[in-house]
Amino acid sequence: MFGRGARRSDNSKYYEVLGVSKNSSQDELKKAYRKSAIKNHPDKGGDPEKFKELAQAYEVLSDPEKRELYDQYGEDALKEGMGGGGGHNPFDIFESFFGGAFGGGGSFRGSRKKKGEDVVHTLRVSLEDLYNGTTKKLSLSRNILCPKCKGKGSKSGASGRCYGCQGTGMRVTTRQIAPGMIQQMQHVCSECRGSGEVITERDRCPQCKGNKITQEKKVLEVNVEKGMLHGQKIVFNAEADEAPDTITGNVIFVLQQKSHSKFRRKSDDLYVEHNLSLTEALCGFQFVLTHLDGRQLQIKSSPGEVIKPDQYKAINDEGMPHYGRPFIKGRLYIHFNVEFPESGFLSPEKCRALEAILPPRLGKRSSDIELGKCEETTMHNVNMEEEMRHEEQRHPRQEAYDTDDEIDANLHSLGCNQQ
Ligand SMILES: [Zn+2]
Ligand SMILES: [Zn+2]
Repeated sequence: MFGRGARRSDNSKYYEVLGVSKNSSQDELKKAYRKSAIKNHPDKGGDPEKFKELAQAYEVLSDPEKRELYDQYGEDALKEGMGGGGGHNPFDIFESFFGGAFGGGGSFRGSRKKKGEDVVHTLRVSLEDLYNGTTKKLSLSRNILCPKCKGKGSKSGASGRCYGCQGTGMRVTTRQIAPGMIQQMQHVCSECRGSGEVITERDRCPQCKGNKITQEKKVLEVNVEKGMLHGQKIVFNAEADEAPDTITGNVIFVLQQKSHSKFRRKSDDLYVEHNLSLTEALCGFQFVLTHLDGRQLQIKSSPGEVIKPDQYKAINDEGMPHYGRPFIKGRLYIHFNVEFPESGFLSPEKCRALEAILPPRLGKRSSDIELGKCEETTMHNVNMEEEMRHEEQRHPRQEAYDTDDEIDANLHSLGCNQQ
């Protein structure tokens, strides 16, 4: 019977109506329906046919049994299976979805609500916290709608429109400042303090005294996950201050990574500084590094390996865990400083002994005759950082750039002249 109909049945129309793919989830269907249904609601000037189609498509696809039937055999099969029923009233479906908020008097209350402010806190965390993950409990106080009167402010639930401002919350006064010139001034209504409503003394809610809101203390558990980054946000939806006719804002924690005494972090990589004595740099070394989770890492050079000043080495998988995939870790870089002994450390005999062991000198020794033709010079110690500081004091930044340019230009012209 419906074998013939099934052959060429159309089973993609409903998906097209909602603008979703065939394997879309219930959530995606809901979102798609909600968006299109609001747009096409006849009360808002939408096309009633389109609105009906949307409801039909959503009704079928949101029901797993009907969806399966539709996917296999198409629309016709559903009509046969449902005894030719054309589904429910599209307005019923819409209202079941929006809880009737839309239908009542044609006013769409959702869009009238104003958006409440987000509350942003910085949350200082250690590198250990970010390596291991942690939970921080934070006690915050916030405004909530008074639970006794549900944010109405009155015992009866009623509130009257303020006479002073006709419910607008603002009052306009005019005064003549010169013949033919009138100044208009707008100010917040003093009777209702800008709310546009008044609640009679007797009807005021005893708990919030008509203010509609009370304070609540709440403990938020902030889950700092492994590998989270400095500046990353952790959002608690709708946990900011509540207020009447307001969509509650979010509480947002912005992570601030404290600096660490040993490790520096660059995205998923960690850096440590390590000092070696000259002997260690030349003859090998070994040390123990305590990691951010307390593990002891043994770090040692390979046999015969020489470490040069300023050299880096890396250890794979000992960096920070990657956020979202914490089993993947970055690298641990070790930056080596080599500490040379102080002047005077080596006696002439020790020097000779060392020279016999160390690689030979680079330059060949000049003969006395050659040296006799040279001018003698004296080197003295300088602290380059201090030199630069003095330089800066003599030539403040702005000028420094100019001078550099001039020097460059001079050097360049010198080079030319010499040719
Ligand atoms: Zn008023
Ligand atoms: Zn109250």
